[in-house]
Amino acid sequence: MPLEIEQFMARSDNFCVLVHNPESHSTICIDAPEEGPILAALERTGWNLTHILITHHHGDHVEALKPLKHRFTPKVTGPRGEAGKIDGLDELVGDGDAISICDEPIEIIETPGHTAGHICYFFPKSKLLFAADTLFAMGCGRLFEKSPADMQKSFDRLAALPDDTEVYCGHEYTLANARFAITVDPDNEALRQRLRTVEAQRQAGEMTLPTTIGLEKQTNPYFRTSDPALKNALGMVDASPAEVFAEIRARKDRF
Ligand SMILES: [Zn+2]
Repeated sequence: MPLEIEQFMARSDNFCVLVHNPESHSTICIDAPEEGPILAALERTGWNLTHILITHHHGDHVEALKPLKHRFTPKVTGPRGEAGKIDGLDELVGDGDAISICDEPIEIIETPGHTAGHICYFFPKSKLLFAADTLFAMGCGRLFEKSPADMQKSFDRLAALPDDTEVYCGHEYTLANARFAITVDPDNEALRQRLRTVEAQRQAGEMTLPTTIGLEKQTNPYFRTSDPALKNALGMVDASPAEVFAEIRARKDRF
């Protein structure tokens, strides 16, 4: 039986996701942004929280960890590299580790950039990626703790996943990212089309995620740092992928 997924908003623009295994009756919460919406989602679905997977130490991803632990006693897994900054982790994981939650294999991919120890969770059997604040639809997380070159390497890791991997991200930044992306990749027809789709989705009050690795490789400028048309539009035909990545991120910071 396939996993069931409940995606909902928390705080102002955080996404939160519950992943439910109907055979084992286990339920994983990806990050813990806010207790109220998570409790409401558990109530709505009738699922019992058994696991929490934490991606990085920022408050808008861990704030509800303590109250949820107190209420449900889930097992909490999180990044070894940020263990000192997150209270309540039961299991520490790092790059290349493989864990299993009720027969669902999960691989840990370390993606330094947004924070130094940020990890993504890849479910190879179900082809799901929980990318939090590393990869957004047509965007990437702000670089608080590592360099553009580090984040570019992190993106290379994610680009190697199967194109049909469904990607869940930490925030609803899709429309703003699309409006920026078109300024650095103006001749990308797939991107123009996606911008129109996303505008319609937001107007209708719909969520724009999940996305897929394949769609991001076509429309996310941070995945397209070797693309001749994008490099030409930036006036950087001879630049390395890391240099192009840094330029796009710097422009986005000023956008
Ligand atoms: Zn963050």
